[in-house]
Amino acid sequence: MTDALVLIDPAASTVEVADLGSPQLPVTDLSAHRGDGIFETVLVRIGGGVTVVSHDRHFARFRASASALGLPDPEPELWDRGLNTVIAEVLANDPTITEFGVRYALSRGTQNSDGSQSPRGWAFNVPVDEKIRRARAQGISAVSLDRGYDAYLGNKAPWLLIGAKTLSYAVNQAASRYAVEQGADEALFVSHDGVVLEGPTSNLIIRRGERLLTPPPEAGLLSGTAQRLVFDHAAELGLSAEYADFGLNDVIEADGAWYVSSMRTAVSLTQLDGNPIPRDEKLTAELQKLIMAG
Ligand code: PLP
Repeated sequence: MTDALVLIDPAASTVEVADLGSPQLPVTDLSAHRGDGIFETVLVRIGGGVTVVSHDRHFARFRASASALGLPDPEPELWDRGLNTVIAEVLANDPTITEFGVRYALSRGTQNSDGSQSPRGWAFNVPVDEKIRRARAQGISAVSLDRGYDAYLGNKAPWLLIGAKTLSYAVNQAASRYAVEQGADEALFVSHDGVVLEGPTSNLIIRRGERLLTPPPEAGLLSGTAQRLVFDHAAELGLSAEYADFGLNDVIEADGAWYVSSMRTAVSLTQLDGNPIPRDEKLTAELQKLIMAG
C-alpha cells in the first residue's frame, strides 16, 4: 500500500501533501521526546462510497483530548481537509483498496525562544495488516496486567490524562510486548483494586445473556469510538448495553467477550489467563459488520 502523508498547520490553517519517506519533524518537537500531543486512528471503508467510521465520535474525542492537554481546539474543517487529502491520495494510488486506517495527530510542537509554542499536525494512512485480519477471523488470547492505579483515580488526578488519547503510548506498547512474552496475544489492564479496564489499544465488551457490558470510562480508561458505536446500536442486535464495573472472573465466566477498536473492529477474546471463553461466532460477525458500516 502506497503511503500518504499530509502536514497540517493549525496556525496557518493549511494542509500540505508531504513525503512520508523524508524527515518532517524537528527533533525538538515536543511529541518526539515528551509524547506531548494527541492522536486518533480512524478506519476508512471503501465500497459504495467512502465511509470514515465514527468520524464524529473520533473528532469529538480529539477535541476533548486537546482540551485535556491545553492544546488549541482543533478546527473541524481543517482536519477534515487533512483527512480527505490522505484518503484521496490513497485511492489515487490504489483504486482497488477496500479498507485502511488514517492516523491524525496534533503535537504541542516546538518550544520557541520566547516561551511560546507552535503546535503542528499531520495525518497519514496505516494498513489493515495481516495481524488485524487474523485477529478478526480467529480471535485473540490475553493476560491480565495491573494498570498500576486504582479505579476512578482520574477525577482526583486530572494530570494523569486518563481518558485522553495522548501520544504517550510507551506503557501501552510495553504491556503488549509483556503479554506476548507470556505467550498471549494481548494484555488486559486491570486497576490495582481489581476492576477490569481495557486493552492497551482497545476496549473490552462482554456478553452476559442478552446484555452487553463494558467498564465505565470514569473507571480509568479511554472511551472508545467502536465500543460506543456498538452500544448505540445494541438494540438492533436484540441486546441491551450497560456500563458496569466487573472483575476478571466475570470475563472468564462471560457468554462471550470482545476487544473492540477502530482498526480491529470486534475480535473475540477466546482465552484470558489460560481460561477459555466461549466464542460467539454469529455475534462476532454481527459486531464486525455493525462497526464497519460506521
Ligand atoms: N483504549 C485505548 C487505550 C486505545 O488506545 C484505543 C484505541 O486505540 C481504544 C481503547 C479503542 O478506541 P477506538 O474504538 O476509538 O479505536
